[in-house]
Amino acid sequence: MNDAENRKMAGQIEVICGSMFSGKTEELIRRLRRAQIARQRVEIFKPKIDNRYSESEIVSHNEQKIPSTVVETAEQILLFSAEADVIGIDEAQFFDTYLVEVAQKLAYEGKRVIIAGLDTDYRAIPFEPIPQLLAIAEYITKTLAVCVKCGAPANRTQRISNTGDRVLVGATDLYEARCRNCYEPPED
Ligand code: ADP
Ligand code: MG
Ligand code: ZN
Repeated sequence: MNDAENRKMAGQIEVICGSMFSGKTEELIRRLRRAQIARQRVEIFKPKIDNRYSESEIVSHNEQKIPSTVVETAEQILLFSAEADVIGIDEAQFFDTYLVEVAQKLAYEGKRVIIAGLDTDYRAIPFEPIPQLLAIAEYITKTLAVCVKCGAPANRTQRISNTGDRVLVGATDLYEARCRNCYEPPED
């Protein structure tokens, strides 16, 4: 074993965040595919709450997809990642703050952890645990959508249905991308 092999691989945390339709899942899939091409062992997770389009795949709004494991808790990610070099997690805003600890543990084991999630909810309020993950990440990518009203870069998710629940899973029928100027805060 040479020096480079002997030295423990430095792990890292990457966060891809932004509003809905901003290309988070697309970018996550792109990075994971490249890791697979490099013959790294890749494990991909999504929370059980997100059953849009497909039960066991991560699917982007432009219909890119990659197989994934559905988990109910962040702890399960730890259990299923022992052999992995690279760990991808989509819709991270649906996990609780224990995800922060899980990401740290994996990175300290020398793994590359790539996390995608909404940085704000439909009220434009930071969506934990993404802010906490941003604080500890080595690399951060903020993706922007296109405002459906004016075409400007959009960082907000407008809910176009009247429910007060923070979590309401859906796509184009329930949400649209809006810029700061075109976004209308909900009344509740
Ligand atoms: P996210 O995971 O951030 O919700 P996806 O990666 O699933 O986003 O989808 C990104 C794709 O969504 C874009 O490449 C584009 O084809 C499509 N799309 C649909 N509406 C919009 C919009 N308003 N702004 C940007 N992309 C959009
Ligand atoms: Mg997505
Ligand atoms: Zn706009």
